[in-house]
Amino acid sequence: MIYKDDPSAIAGFLEDTSNLKSGRTPGVFFPESCEEVAQLLRSAAADGRRYTVAGNGTGTTGGRIPLGDYVISMQKLDRIGEVEPVEGGLAVIRVQAGALLQDVQAKAASEGWFYPPDPTETSCFIGSTVANNSSGSRSFRYGPTRAHVRAIRVALPQGDLLEITRGGCIAGADGSFHLDLPVAGKLRFLRPEYSMPATSKHNAGYWSTPGMELIDLFIGSEGTLGIIVEAELLLRPMPEKVIACLVFFRREEDLLLFVEEARKGSGGVRPRAVELFDSRSLEFLRQSYPQVPEKTAGAIYFEEETTEEAEERCMEGWLELMESCGAPTEQSWAALDSEGLSRLREFRHRLPVLVNEWLSRQAESKVSTDMALADARFRELFELYRDSCNREGFTYIIFGHIGNAHLHLNILPRDRAEFDRAKRLYRQLVTEVLSMGGTLSAEHGIGKLKSEYLVQMYGQSGMREMVRVKKALDPYLVLNIGNLIPESFYESET
Ligand SMILES: Cc1cc2nc3c(=O)[nH]c(=O)nc-3n(C[C@H](O)[C@H](O)[C@H](O)COP(=O)(O)OP(=O)(O)OC[C@H]3O[C@@H](n4cnc5c(N)ncnc54)[C@H](O)[C@@H]3O)c2cc1C
Repeated sequence: MIYKDDPSAIAGFLEDTSNLKSGRTPGVFFPESCEEVAQLLRSAAADGRRYTVAGNGTGTTGGRIPLGDYVISMQKLDRIGEVEPVEGGLAVIRVQAGALLQDVQAKAASEGWFYPPDPTETSCFIGSTVANNSSGSRSFRYGPTRAHVRAIRVALPQGDLLEITRGGCIAGADGSFHLDLPVAGKLRFLRPEYSMPATSKHNAGYWSTPGMELIDLFIGSEGTLGIIVEAELLLRPMPEKVIACLVFFRREEDLLLFVEEARKGSGGVRPRAVELFDSRSLEFLRQSYPQVPEKTAGAIYFEEETTEEAEERCMEGWLELMESCGAPTEQSWAALDSEGLSRLREFRHRLPVLVNEWLSRQAESKVSTDMALADARFRELFELYRDSCNREGFTYIIFGHIGNAHLHLNILPRDRAEFDRAKRLYRQLVTEVLSMGGTLSAEHGIGKLKSEYLVQMYGQSGMREMVRVKKALDPYLVLNIGNLIPESFYESET
């Protein structure tokens, strides 16, 4: 197994897109098989080592940044298996954790299949998307990664390699799981008792529902319970056609009405994505796209799957909806083929990229939210963000998955004083969204940056329940310490 400890080789492993600067590690291991991953963990306690798992570094919460621990890079485990049709008109593909999402999608597409999860950044590793239950614009229709995973192979913290299939291990009536493992022996633990928020997207803390499956505990656990080494993913038949459109609005009220009607399926529309760009996001994008219309209150991007035969009817439904909501249809950008679709998707992807470029020239980091409310409350979330930032006089943008009432607010502070005020506002917004029954994170996860707010979400007792699960599987605390659970909880909990 390759091991590197020279500063130039490890520098890249001390960062992701969070701007967290405190990363440090003695060195990075590059296992080339699942068994090698398990071996590292098997001897971790005896070797006095802790490990942080690294995907491809596109995470936004510092999850892969080691704070003194060794790193296990998943880079070399990048094998993509063959597509195999299964029951129900679906197919599966088995992939190793370090395969790039975009390569898996391309392989599926080359054989006429479709893998729906689409975090905007497709250069992430599949294993990370499972560990983080990543989602994206298409989650409006298809749900997050969790809904598309049929099995996982996990290297557990004590060094067992465990295959977990959907339907293969379900919690007992008392919420308990029982495992009998070659290395760790007999384990019994209870799922956390907290209730989860009533949002359609949620990725904060361990998944926990009555009668839940073991596989769902691992999906979204951000590498704290085990290292995903392989996953079997469900594929759907590639839709015959996809149309997409970016609709600009002159009035915010019209835009919000359009979202409301599109979500309801008015006029027969059936979107698979409904995404927002507020007016400030469009200002940002104008740097790269000068053709963005002036005096625009915001834009909605939507996608719908259709067929050659139904395409015209589908477009008519959308046009009627746009007109009934006062959109200047002649200004809209429509995509009716795959090239047009790629261009519009590139437009979407360009926004966070431009923001990150802008930030790299600033002294201060952005303060960003990933919270969501119950779907029907998208207006409240938008207005809460907009009004709070206007009151403070901040430079900010609001964009993202409005169809799921999941919006990203990015506050862009100009100096330290403004950064401190933005952090204060962030704390207030967390309190407000949680009091409205929302979630702290709908997709990016908690990592190291947001663990203190997770305590606010689940309370001390909820955190202790998470610690009990963690300690049952990782009694020597060797894996991804600092992610999700603040370290102080390990000291106080036995
Ligand atoms: C421009 C941009 C847009 C984005 N848009 C979205 C979006 O729309 N939706 C969304 O959900 N996310 C989005 N993200 C976040 C990010 O792409 C996802 O979180 C992705 O899953 C991270 O993958 P990675 O390989 O880069 O992981 P890394 O950043 O390297 O790691 C992320 C976390 O996963 C853990 N991990 C990595 N591999 C494994 C493994 N095999 N087993 C267990 N734990 C592991 C790490 O320890 C870390 O905690 C975006 C990021 C960027 C930069």
